[in-house]
Amino acid sequence: MLRRKNKKAGGKSTGGNAEGTLPKIEFKPPIADKQQEQGVLIACRGMPQWPAALQLAAQAIKSRAEQILLDFTAQGVAVRIRVDGIWESLPPMDRPTGDGVLVIFKKLCDLNPNDRRSKQHAVLPVKYKGVDWLFDFVSQGVPTGERVLIRIEPKKPVLTTLADLGMRQKMQEQLRNLLNASGHMFLFSAPPGHGLPTTWRVGLEAADRFVRDFHSIEDVHLNEPELINITKHTFDSAAGETPLTVLKSLLLKQPDVLVLPDLVDGEVCKLMCEEALEEGRSFMTRIHADSAVQALIKLMARFKGSARELVKACNGVLNQRLVRRLCLECRQPFQPSPQLLQKLGIPPGRVQVLYQPTIPPPPEQRVDANGRPLEIEICGKCGGRGYYGRAAIFELLVLNDDIRKAFLNDPRPASVLAVARKHGFLTLQEEAILAVATGMTSLQEIQRVLTPPKK
Ligand SMILES: [Zn+2]
Repeated sequence: MLRRKNKKAGGKSTGGNAEGTLPKIEFKPPIADKQQEQGVLIACRGMPQWPAALQLAAQAIKSRAEQILLDFTAQGVAVRIRVDGIWESLPPMDRPTGDGVLVIFKKLCDLNPNDRRSKQHAVLPVKYKGVDWLFDFVSQGVPTGERVLIRIEPKKPVLTTLADLGMRQKMQEQLRNLLNASGHMFLFSAPPGHGLPTTWRVGLEAADRFVRDFHSIEDVHLNEPELINITKHTFDSAAGETPLTVLKSLLLKQPDVLVLPDLVDGEVCKLMCEEALEEGRSFMTRIHADSAVQALIKLMARFKGSARELVKACNGVLNQRLVRRLCLECRQPFQPSPQLLQKLGIPPGRVQVLYQPTIPPPPEQRVDANGRPLEIEICGKCGGRGYYGRAAIFELLVLNDDIRKAFLNDPRPASVLAVARKHGFLTLQEEAILAVATGMTSLQEIQRVLTPPKK
């Protein structure tokens, strides 16, 4: 275990670090001319804020942050990082430090450091401890100053299988069967910010792309990642094109499966339903929604003219939420009371222990009665967050004729859900409790994620 002294870091964050103790981060500016690239690196290293820029990048990667947010105001620069979906504040920078750090990042990204108003965007490759990362950098002037958001992504996707995402074995098999069925539509869904693009990619890669002929049709401006063994076709929405531009000639080649992140318009939707119901082709699409039932209702409402055909073609809908995984190093077992088990719907005797996170008190409370600093063990794995990494909780709605009838007769979530439950459908809430029972996550975490935000 890592031992941290309760000592406030003194002095300014510019840091008087000697070059030797700086984190070994390698930036690879996206500049084709090698000489010019070298010139940029030398200029950046010569700036007094170079150590602060390196430390910010290293701290974010070490904390497994997915984003860095810098807010420049007259008073200073607020620094936040987002770890497993939760924003954390880092010590703010003074303006001279923050301004210098920003100049360094803009130079490394081959952007204009003097422009503090326009939106500027670039991707900066970064290497740290043998791992390649991409810093997706966006800066934009705002009324209070300037705002910078850096998304940090591993260059190689780390989540590659349904099990990596946290899907239980039985559901993986059900999902594969649905994806591999002919003459159907399968729908992926999640609320915004809950990992839909990742599940879309991993889910499609779990389908049988080696036996059947897969083609995707995507807006060229969406910039979707390439999928293995799926032939990609693009249309240009800015030029007024739709999937129809490529779809008609593509259909002449008799593809087995069509993958459309967005059906775009009623004409495309109608054609896709005809291809599924009459020609036995399959197609897959996705939509933002809070539940599997709601996802199909939303799709029906969006394409009213094809609502009946969509329901007829649909064989399944997946929905998900991202939850933080409990840190396996420091999670604490506790014996749930019979009342708690009953409330959760877990039969007595099924689960002996549940787990909760270890969250140390904030630094200002780590003192004894006389105000003397207490030494507190901070978990070296999760850094005292209590959680490490994320997984998805899934609900998978498998449609049958009864459930289809429910969608068509009364397309409201409550009435469709009642019918689906009779056919064994487990909701997100129930799937989440299974994840708590296995110790993957905590009750607090599923409450945080599944409690609807107050409006
Ligand atoms: Zn831990």
